[in-house]
Amino acid sequence: MEPQQRSPLLEVRGNVELKRPLVKAPSRLPLPGTRFKRGPDRMEDALEPEKKRTRGLDTVTKIATSHPRPPALTVRPQTQSQTTAPKVPKKTGPRCSTAIGTVLKKQKPDPAVPAQKPGAAPPTLGGKKPTKRPAWDLKGQLCDLNAELKCCRERTQTLNQENQQLQDQLKEAQQQARVLGAECRTLEGELARVQAQAEQGQQELGNLRARVLELEEQLGTQQGLVQELQKEQVGLQEERRGLAARLEEQERRLQASEVALSGSQAEVASLRQEAATQATLLVAQGERLHGLEMERRRLHNQLQELKGNIRVFCRVRPVLPGEPTPSPGFLLFPSGPGGSSDTPTRLSVSRSDERRGTLSGTPAPTTRHDFSFDRVFPPGSGQDQVFEEIAMLVQSALDGYPVCIFAYGQTGSGKTFTMEGGPGGDPQVEGLIPRALRHLFSVAQELGGQGWTYSFVASYVEIYNETVRDLLATGTRKGQGSECEIRRAGPGSEELTVTNARYVPVSCEKEVEALLQLARQNRAVARTSQNERSSRSHSVFQLQISGEHAGRGLQCAAPLSLVDLAGSERLDPGLALGPGERERLRETQAINSSLSTLGLVIMALSNKESHVPYRNSKLTYLLQNSLGGSAKMLMFVNISPLEENVSESLNSLRFASKVNQCVIGTAQANRK
Ligand code: ADP
Ligand code: MG
Repeated sequence: MEPQQRSPLLEVRGNVELKRPLVKAPSRLPLPGTRFKRGPDRMEDALEPEKKRTRGLDTVTKIATSHPRPPALTVRPQTQSQTTAPKVPKKTGPRCSTAIGTVLKKQKPDPAVPAQKPGAAPPTLGGKKPTKRPAWDLKGQLCDLNAELKCCRERTQTLNQENQQLQDQLKEAQQQARVLGAECRTLEGELARVQAQAEQGQQELGNLRARVLELEEQLGTQQGLVQELQKEQVGLQEERRGLAARLEEQERRLQASEVALSGSQAEVASLRQEAATQATLLVAQGERLHGLEMERRRLHNQLQELKGNIRVFCRVRPVLPGEPTPSPGFLLFPSGPGGSSDTPTRLSVSRSDERRGTLSGTPAPTTRHDFSFDRVFPPGSGQDQVFEEIAMLVQSALDGYPVCIFAYGQTGSGKTFTMEGGPGGDPQVEGLIPRALRHLFSVAQELGGQGWTYSFVASYVEIYNETVRDLLATGTRKGQGSECEIRRAGPGSEELTVTNARYVPVSCEKEVEALLQLARQNRAVARTSQNERSSRSHSVFQLQISGEHAGRGLQCAAPLSLVDLAGSERLDPGLALGPGERERLRETQAINSSLSTLGLVIMALSNKESHVPYRNSKLTYLLQNSLGGSAKMLMFVNISPLEENVSESLNSLRFASKVNQCVIGTAQANRK
């Protein structure tokens, strides 16, 4: 029964001692106006006192409710407690209230301590029941009752005070509760804000995670790239090593080359010296070569002169498919004194005199006509063989000697074939014109090595019925171009030119072929208006050749004329003269006139007559510069192999023989 024996004063003192640290303990409540710092831990701390306060208030409420049961206290302890009660600081937090509560709670279960006052009835309220006064001791009982009443009054007063205090505390606590409620709301607001921030943070976190993923992915790619680059680097390092090795090799070679170069330089120096010697020698050689070239030209000319400045070649065309085979012995090609190895120069034509045979009744006797020319080409001779014979003559034109080549003969004897070539563009049957030009171009190129430069200008005209027409006309003038006139190139000039005719510079055989093609087209167009005009007209292809040796100041110029003459046949005197025949007669007379003029001109030149009748025909006038004293002339007499053409063949052969007998004076090169 120790607690019941304990003095209430000690009890109160003990309570006071217990209270002190509680009172002095610093309040953990935030001071009004204290700002909470953000952060979850701080928030925890901030919220903690609230809970604690709530617990404190609960305790206070408990006290209030437990109040109606007053503890059984003795008077002294009551007084003692009254003296200690005011010591409680007015403004105590919930802990203070708790302390008070604790005190009160502790007081409650305390057993009533018996009164110490001697003589007085023990006033203990609880614990051991006081001994009852005897019934007779009324005074004592009254005294007890008074004492008890007084005690109760005091107790009531104390309790009232306490009640007042507690109400004050309650008010204060309510005030604090309001403040705390406001704080709580602020904190809730703060919490909401923090939550929003947290959400935002979450969102940001999510974004950051996504970003992290993305970056990780990028990192993966970059790592892959890095690996690739590393591989590449390894490859490049390998390559670098290879290149370094090559460089080293090259450097070694360079050094070797430099050594070789220095050797070569010495060699070059000696070679330069040698080259200088050679150059001097070359100049001397050039001089010699030029001298030799001039000598060659002189000798070449001498040779041509020895061959004759006017030469006649006879060419017999083969019998064409469908033509009657001539009787054997009609045309014979007797060998020369040297036998069959000699180049043929003779031709025999056997002609049977039918009239004499008919008159006497005996078989017609044959008359043999022998002809001799510079060269005779039997029917089997090819174009190349023919050209071979005239190549040297053509070359004379490059040396500055005018050259003129005619094809004479009746229509169908092979003049056009000889001059232009056969049909179909077969190179085998190419005529003299394309062959001669190709030869000239090639020789001119060779002479270019000796310092000579050549230029060639071509023209192609036809003379029909004493009118000159351009065969190279193009456009509207094609075929029936306006008439051309032969004029002197300038006053006092020996050179002749054809007005309205095209003079086309040529430098290769393709250009020449194009011109020949154009001439063929022009003739074809003309043929539609005037039948067979081509065989009734002279075609004159002329090439103006100009050469220059700039180094030596030498120049030479000469025309090369290639003439396909009109058919030499004469009109049959037995034919009746209708309107067509009259026209034909006029044509023939014009042709015959120009051909006989050609003969006369050649004769006059041969006989060195003072007057040469060039002007008597357009043909001789146009060819004036190609027939003069310095000119070289070649006439092809084309013969048909047919017996039916024997009369015309003999006429042609006779004309050609006359020409062949002519000798035109010594040729002079047209040098300037
Ligand atoms: P011309 O011009 O004298 O009237 P052409 O040259 O037109 O005669 O020849 C008449 C025909 O004879 C043509 O069909 C031609 O191809 C042919 N001819 C002429 N000469 C020869 C030859 N040497 N070889 C083959 N055919 C030829
Ligand atoms: Mg012809």
